[in-house]
Amino acid sequence: MIDNAVLKKILLEVEKPARYIGGEFNLPDTDKPCDERVCLCFADKYEVGMSNIGLRILYHMLNDTEGVVCERSFAPSVDMAAKLKEHGIKLFSLETRREFTEFDIVGFSIGFELAYTNVLYMMDLAGIPFYAKDRGEDYPLVVAGGPCMVNPAPILDFFDAILVGEGEVNLAGFVALHRKCKAEGLSKAEFLKRASELEGVYVTSVGGKVKRAVVKDLDKAYFPTKILVPSCDIVHDRSTLELFRGCANGCRFCQACFYYRPIRERKKDTLLKQAKELITNTGYEELSLSSLSTSDYSDLKGLVDGLKEEAEKENVKLALPSLRLDSFEAEIYEDTKGASLTFAPEAGTQRLRDVINKNVSDENILSSLTAALKHGVKNVKLYFMIGLPTETEEDLKGIVDIVKLVRKLHAEHGKSKIINITVSTAVFIPKPLTPFQWEEQISIEDMYAKQDYLKRELKLRNVKYSWHDAKASVIEAALARGDRRQSAVIKRAFETGCVFDSWNECFDYEKWIAAFEYCGIDPREYTGAIPTDKELAWDFIDNGVTKQYLLRERERAYQGITTPNCIGKCNGCGANKLGRCFE
Ligand code: SF4
Ligand code: SF4
Repeated sequence: MIDNAVLKKILLEVEKPARYIGGEFNLPDTDKPCDERVCLCFADKYEVGMSNIGLRILYHMLNDTEGVVCERSFAPSVDMAAKLKEHGIKLFSLETRREFTEFDIVGFSIGFELAYTNVLYMMDLAGIPFYAKDRGEDYPLVVAGGPCMVNPAPILDFFDAILVGEGEVNLAGFVALHRKCKAEGLSKAEFLKRASELEGVYVTSVGGKVKRAVVKDLDKAYFPTKILVPSCDIVHDRSTLELFRGCANGCRFCQACFYYRPIRERKKDTLLKQAKELITNTGYEELSLSSLSTSDYSDLKGLVDGLKEEAEKENVKLALPSLRLDSFEAEIYEDTKGASLTFAPEAGTQRLRDVINKNVSDENILSSLTAALKHGVKNVKLYFMIGLPTETEEDLKGIVDIVKLVRKLHAEHGKSKIINITVSTAVFIPKPLTPFQWEEQISIEDMYAKQDYLKRELKLRNVKYSWHDAKASVIEAALARGDRRQSAVIKRAFETGCVFDSWNECFDYEKWIAAFEYCGIDPREYTGAIPTDKELAWDFIDNGVTKQYLLRERERAYQGITTPNCIGKCNGCGANKLGRCFE
């Protein structure tokens, strides 16, 4: 355990000490009798991790299990890390300030590839060896889960096991089996052998294939309503309801869409009950809805009406997220007068939107924007992607045309005096488990040229243009389709100073390139086009959606043929073999 007197002194010297002290409102009883201790780690700062709904669910789920205590640890800022090193203090859990070696299981939640070095950063601060092979019986089991497990190949060697899919199934199963094996006195290796048979568990020392674990009945699945309320600001500081998982729309660049399938909803009455409990238990003044495409919820109107009633009664603000352009319902937006309206057409022309299967037409854009402006919206945020497969100059010009259209529509119909338009462009990253997983990423020079064009053309009054860092996109793409050889690159990058790579101010492209070079690996090997018959680094994972379906979708993309959403008519993606859709 940590020396509290020393810690107290350190906390006075670092920025935002609340990140490290725990003791939040609604803290579960972590002193209860238990035979299994789990530390859930989030490979980013407290403010980011505490906003993660997946981590929230698993944390409370484990603490609500008799005999199990779950604690948390987040990546400390570099000022805190320096202090810990200076005073010889190892990274600890927030609840009982235990070191990682005092836990049975340490589980990392990894949401994006640029967090990989943060995992090593946390392991280093915790004093545990990076590679699973170097951690004997004295060390806890170290596992990873989260969306990055769609292709965990680059980080496999760091973990004893990879939990593929939903933690309500695989983490719960892993913990339960470990308790049993511990009681039987089994060794780590013996336990891991047995764990390799669990649903959604890939044991790195055993190998083989793994099928993604999913919750079969989301409506009945565990969902916490007595959640932690942090004592400092976090990114999403509010209660959140999870409406459904998966997305029916199938935009061809979107990994989340396919990764979270099959599509499963929570019933309206379940959500209303959860909302009531969240409001009562937390005191939060804001309630938001979480899903990939909220407007596709089967009874959104009924749900919003019910929530509004409850929210008004309790004086709670209902935060509605951005809705898809093609199903924009002005009615629902009546309460957001003057608020920001977020639209993501992703591509500037109908042609390219057909290629990527963004089923949003020019008419949809026109009618939705007109409706929003008539309602008095004065901030419009538009999201696009550059470098998409088949993109031409015409498509880039289309982005500028949409911005000009918003200005024109505002002049004609706008209720507000001025209109502020924010345009953001991300760079296309070919991600595993998408129809574009075989595509090449455009060169860094092309990224700059496209961004420069938009910078020039969008120099318009009340229009702000921001763009995603081209260099970070290259590294993200290389890691996303990376293979097992990359663990050496990640280790080298960390050792040469890469950490918090997803934070613009910390990302250092030159260090990453040097790390690739040091390991004799060319990152362009991973960002170029991949032949469709080549074995992929993530082929050992059965994520439900089949390769045949992805290839078919890729073919349709090149023919400019759209695929309708699968609400009411299954398109045969294969995800329903893991669990039923639209129950
Ligand atoms: S609407 Fe498209 S981009 Fe949004 S989550 Fe669904 S598939 Fe992804
Ligand atoms: S199995 Fe069918 S209904 Fe389910 S996500 Fe795939 S295409 Fe949609």
